[in-house]
Amino acid sequence: MKIIMLGAPGAGKGTQAKQIADKYRIPHISTGDIFRANIKNGTELGKKAKQYMDQGLLVPDELTCDLVMDRIGQDDCENGFILDGFPRTIPQAEALTAALEKINEKMDYAIDVDVPDENIVNRMSGRRACLNCGATYHIVSIPTKVEGICDRCGQPVVLRDDDKPETVQKRLTVYHEQTQPLIDYYKKQPPRAGAVFCPEKREKAVSTGFKNFSKTVKNPFTHKRARCGILIMSKGSNPLLPDGS
Ligand code: ADP
Ligand code: ZN
Repeated sequence: MKIIMLGAPGAGKGTQAKQIADKYRIPHISTGDIFRANIKNGTELGKKAKQYMDQGLLVPDELTCDLVMDRIGQDDCENGFILDGFPRTIPQAEALTAALEKINEKMDYAIDVDVPDENIVNRMSGRRACLNCGATYHIVSIPTKVEGICDRCGQPVVLRDDDKPETVQKRLTVYHEQTQPLIDYYKKQPPRAGAVFCPEKREKAVSTGFKNFSKTVKNPFTHKRARCGILIMSKGSNPLLPDGS
């Protein structure tokens, strides 16, 4: 199973992706996490990526693509993977499509986690991240058990530099300009499973949400609303989403 998570920064796609990865026992590949791990370890890649990330800009395609192609070629990706935060531009999507074509493969699902902008800025200011293990929390909806301390590894959790309100605004602009066009890209070139909800069916998608996604994954071709290759999940649709609103 090869899945792409699309969606604005802070839409909750990381949380969704982790759950899907656990459920289907496939690696969760978050480009943001990989960049942050590199920054933490002071690698060359990390130094380069940080200059862009701190400004709310995207890391250049070439750096990002090399990294992802390398990662999905590793053994643990043999049965699939879920990409969280990649592709984020049309050239990245094209590079991914081309790399998979070479080995006669195709993505199975593209999932768009759809959340209105106005909710995002608020949500991000409450987000806390553990820079040590990558766990994410929210001060209201998914608080740590002990305030300020990661449940998983005991290290402090922080408001990431790129989650500060002014940077979030910039990231949203970048999202609309560079990443949102991917929804059309994947509608025109639907992933293999033929997939799930169309944007105009959004209201229905909202009321069915994640549970149906699981069903659909098991048997994509019997799903009645399977039509256009993109599953639209709105935050209201998913009881598992971080802020529960
Ligand atoms: P979010 O999903 O909240 O936007 P991520 O953790 O996915 O955050 O990404 C954090 C930052 O890492 C992005 O703002 C961007 O600078 C960089 N980044 C992550 N993935 C990509 C990508 N595919 N292409 C370019 N830059 C990326
Ligand atoms: Zn941690």
